[in-house]
Amino acid sequence: MSRQRTALVTGGASGIGRAISLRLAEDGFATAVLDLDAQGAEKVAAECREKGHEAVAFGGVDVSDRAQVDSAVQRVRDTLGPVLALVNNAGVTGTTAFLKITDDQWDQQLAVNLSGPFYLCQAVLPGMIEAGWGRIVNISSSSFHSGQPYMAHYVSAKSGLVGLTKCLALEFGPKGITVNTIPPGFIDTPMLRESERKGLIGGSVDHHAGLTPVRRPGRPEDIAAACAFLVSEEAGYVTGQVIGVNGGRNT
Ligand code: NAP
Repeated sequence: MSRQRTALVTGGASGIGRAISLRLAEDGFATAVLDLDAQGAEKVAAECREKGHEAVAFGGVDVSDRAQVDSAVQRVRDTLGPVLALVNNAGVTGTTAFLKITDDQWDQQLAVNLSGPFYLCQAVLPGMIEAGWGRIVNISSSSFHSGQPYMAHYVSAKSGLVGLTKCLALEFGPKGITVNTIPPGFIDTPMLRESERKGLIGGSVDHHAGLTPVRRPGRPEDIAAACAFLVSEEAGYVTGQVIGVNGGRNT
């Protein structure tokens, strides 16, 4: 990379987002670690800095609130420069029988998992257009391939994110901006362990690992590696794509 570019990772305090933040910082991006969890975001940014990389935490930011998103993106620009790589990773999950999903539950899933990326993309795209270069990676879910009972709200939002990805890839390709999605499958993070603890994944993580073609759960670093490629200079001809990272669970 000829000069340091700025990356913004939402949900950067935990799990997949933490691994992506550490990896992009290591790859030379000045990294903005954005999360609702202020302490966690600061911890990850400090980890990056301890390794000699530039990173700043933007904690206490709710991606489902447009005003908070706009203000945070402005602060990132003032502190680190315009965001040229955006990873929409923050997400919430939920498990409820379809006939019992309330309007509030539906709205929350859509707000965090789909409207959040919409707000973030609108906030950073002008800077990318100005620079004539940009990379957006949307973290969807492998459940978009297969569907998932009791998760209609979550899967609908994550499927919408795939549609958003494809539309933006077509609209902004001529401006030097690529937009792709990674739908992770079965990655060992606090979110997955919480679902296991609540008995929501139909067996243990180990049991499911045995059914996965590569015979292990995914690691956050597996997603970070794919993401690192998609935001790199050399991925400039890859756009509008769904890059599944799921150990072969969805083919
Ligand atoms: P995680 O460990 O729960 O991390 C998610 C992070 O996002 C948390 O730090 C959380 O903060 C933050 N966050 C939640 N809502 C937010 C909001 N409104 N604004 C800002 N930050 C918010 O989850 P993960 O497993 O790493 O998942 C990361 C992404 O991958 C999610 O989009 C998830 O849907 C997707 N995914 C994961 C898997 C998997 O197997 N793990 C599979 C498919 C898709 P708090 O802790 O404060 O809430």
